[in-house]
Amino acid sequence: MATARFRFYAELNELLPRARRQRDILHEFRSPATVEDRIEAQGIPHTEVELLQVNGSPVGFAHRLQDGDRVSVYPFLAILENPLPLRPPYPRGRFVLDQHLSKLAAYLRLMGLDALHRPCFPDQELAPVAVGEDRVLLTRDKGLLMRKEIVHGGCVRATDPMAQLPEVLHRFGARELYAPFSRCLVCNGLLQSIPEEDVADRLLPSTRARYHDYWICPTCDRVLWAGPQVRRMRGWVATWLKDPDLSH
Ligand SMILES: [Zn+2]
Repeated sequence: MATARFRFYAELNELLPRARRQRDILHEFRSPATVEDRIEAQGIPHTEVELLQVNGSPVGFAHRLQDGDRVSVYPFLAILENPLPLRPPYPRGRFVLDQHLSKLAAYLRLMGLDALHRPCFPDQELAPVAVGEDRVLLTRDKGLLMRKEIVHGGCVRATDPMAQLPEVLHRFGARELYAPFSRCLVCNGLLQSIPEEDVADRLLPSTRARYHDYWICPTCDRVLWAGPQVRRMRGWVATWLKDPDLSH
């Protein structure tokens, strides 16, 4: 057996068992082994790694480990510049989410971002969609992110959807694409403005008396107006847009 000394930095520690956090880890392995394989064997999906160094030099995921190597593993937050990028730049504003992240999908849509999500989205379909449509796969399932074909993925740490949105946009922000209230929160369709008279027969008289601006989702045919719920959501959006961490 060969042995390498691993050190995981910053928030990668959150993905390790408590006893292995913030310390050097002696890891035994059978040669030959790639650094990617040995990182995932310790519970860290490759999608969470932004910079890899072996004995102080940047390497790629396919680098073969040698006995006695010292491996430093960094997440995106911990680095300013990567001399050897591990993957192409992420597709901006394009996501696919696993079926447990329905509220996060709605909040991304609220910001105008393209967030593909279905209530029943089998795990085996998520990876091909993420790769085929060039989307960032968002999930809390580390095993799903360890699939080799996934290029861009994010392991969502927060459990509260209101905290998940800033977390995701901090890492995968796309400020130039933020267009609040431009998408249907239910189906991801792009909303279109529609004259009141065209939807009058679908509205309650009390709604028509109070509101005169309407939008329709051409995908699911829902009619929307700026009711109390929308006013509440405007407050959330204003808070998110003020967050300097999301402005990239
Ligand atoms: Zn819709």
